[in-house]
Amino acid sequence: MNHELPPKEDPNTLDLDPDRYERANIPAGEPPKQDPVKRRRNFNEVFLGYDEKQAVVEALRCIHCPSPEPCILGCPVHNDIPRALMFIEQGDPVAGANVFRQTNNLPEVCGRICPQEVLCEGACTVAGYDKPVAIGKLEAYCSDYQRNHVGIPSREIAPATGKRVAVIGFGPAGLAVAEELRVLGHEIVVYDAWPRPGGLMVYGIPGFKLSKRIIDQKVAHLESLGIRFVGDTLVGQDVTVDELLQGNDAVFLGVGATHGNPARLPGEDLHGIYQATEFLVRGNVPVEDLPKNMRALPEFGPRIAVIGGGDTAMDCVRTAKRLQTQHGFPDGDVTVYYRRTENEMPGRAEERMHARQEGIQFEFLVSPVRFIGDTNGHVRQIEFEKMRLRARDVSGRPRPEPIPGSNYTVEAQVVVLALGYKVDPLLLKATPGVTGTKWGTVHVENEDDPMTARPGVFAAGDDVRGADLVVTATAAGRKAAYAMNAWLKYNSARTDIKTRRVLETLRV
Ligand SMILES: Cc1cc2nc3c(=O)[nH]c(=O)nc-3n(C[C@H](O)[C@H](O)[C@H](O)COP(=O)(O)OP(=O)(O)OC[C@H]3O[C@@H](n4cnc5c(N)ncnc54)[C@H](O)[C@@H]3O)c2cc1C
Repeated sequence: MNHELPPKEDPNTLDLDPDRYERANIPAGEPPKQDPVKRRRNFNEVFLGYDEKQAVVEALRCIHCPSPEPCILGCPVHNDIPRALMFIEQGDPVAGANVFRQTNNLPEVCGRICPQEVLCEGACTVAGYDKPVAIGKLEAYCSDYQRNHVGIPSREIAPATGKRVAVIGFGPAGLAVAEELRVLGHEIVVYDAWPRPGGLMVYGIPGFKLSKRIIDQKVAHLESLGIRFVGDTLVGQDVTVDELLQGNDAVFLGVGATHGNPARLPGEDLHGIYQATEFLVRGNVPVEDLPKNMRALPEFGPRIAVIGGGDTAMDCVRTAKRLQTQHGFPDGDVTVYYRRTENEMPGRAEERMHARQEGIQFEFLVSPVRFIGDTNGHVRQIEFEKMRLRARDVSGRPRPEPIPGSNYTVEAQVVVLALGYKVDPLLLKATPGVTGTKWGTVHVENEDDPMTARPGVFAAGDDVRGADLVVTATAAGRKAAYAMNAWLKYNSARTDIKTRRVLETLRV
């Protein structure tokens, strides 16, 4: 993940008029959280959310920078944050939520799980002298308030165009494409291999970060707009893109990057070693939303090891801790092993803080060499070697290098591999004309016009960008919808993007 922030305004050069000055002196306030001892026994959300009074005070901390506002530039969907916060401070959270909904299909999700510290809040001018305004928590507050009090507002649907689109993928990219195209009057059916809509927001991200009920409410909203969801359909196997193209005018591929990278180490096939997604899904998702062969909980025991350093690793250790405390190992050990130091860890500092509060141990500068099993073929130990850091590699981070003779072993009944994700090659292989990049992602012209090499087949989200974020998938999905709308209007032969934009402007 490499998100460039816009330049921050220098607070010393800000015109601190009396109103701004007063705002700048309001102390930051965090919403209450579940106590760590209590929360490590349940999968409920950690943050309990602002109440109205706290939200108004926090919104008042926005000093309303002159345009272009850095927070808007720092947000991948370019939410008009200052305007939304102005409504919140005036005691109108519903109007605030409507501002977020103009540019974001999933404000209640992004408000909870965006890494705001490197996006909107990272760009916030207030961060130059204090904690940034808690934009994410305020986005969650006002969109929750609206959902719970008046519901997600319906959207006006344009007259039917007679065009049909098949969207593949229930994730944020697919949901955004489906909603935006439906509003433009097209008929939409969304397909997914999993039964329950949400993509990784349901089958990945644990409930203590994002309640699954929020996704269900959004899906019910989309169904009320006339979008149809068809689960349990693995496209490329149960039905092909070619078959879908026979009954549709266009197809969207929003299949994400959901395949975990292997460790490629001896012993990796031992029982008790899981890929992160399988561990999270079996530990977090209600059994009725899982295929029969995945309905048992994953194994757990007194010593669980998670290998990796990103947010997925944090989700795994915190899930493991909850499984231990709920199932008889309240004093069990859960350790995350990472080959660099904490400074280089790619995930959110907030998630690491939460993990530590919940009793997770961290081992840095170590890398596994092999997994050692017992006579039943079950993992029992991991052999590690210690690492030291050398000059920076292509990722810009110091390169870890093994220290000769430093090997040691640790006990572990369960090992979880959280080593990053790649795109499942199935759909690329099964779809003639759709080409891949050298990274295994789907090749598209560009993010504004994300048609694949196959006319009428578009793609966006993690399957194009590589594993990234809900907000970037949503942003890419919205752009794809507008490009697809142009294609649906002027298609048959491919119209180049500039011509389509001119036609769109002229409303031909
Ligand atoms: C454990 C974990 C934690 C994360 N935490 C965060 C976080 O805190 N904040 C954040 O912003 N992002 C987080 N992410 C990343 C975020 O979830 C993804 O970037 C985002 O969901 C990508 O959206 P997408 O629509 O491109 O794909 P996905 O959400 O991956 O959805 C793709 C869907 O396509 C389906 N599919 C795939 N192949 C086929 C096929 N052949 N046929 C039918 N269906 C298919 C899949 O089943 C899936 O439902 C996390 C990811 C993981 C794994």
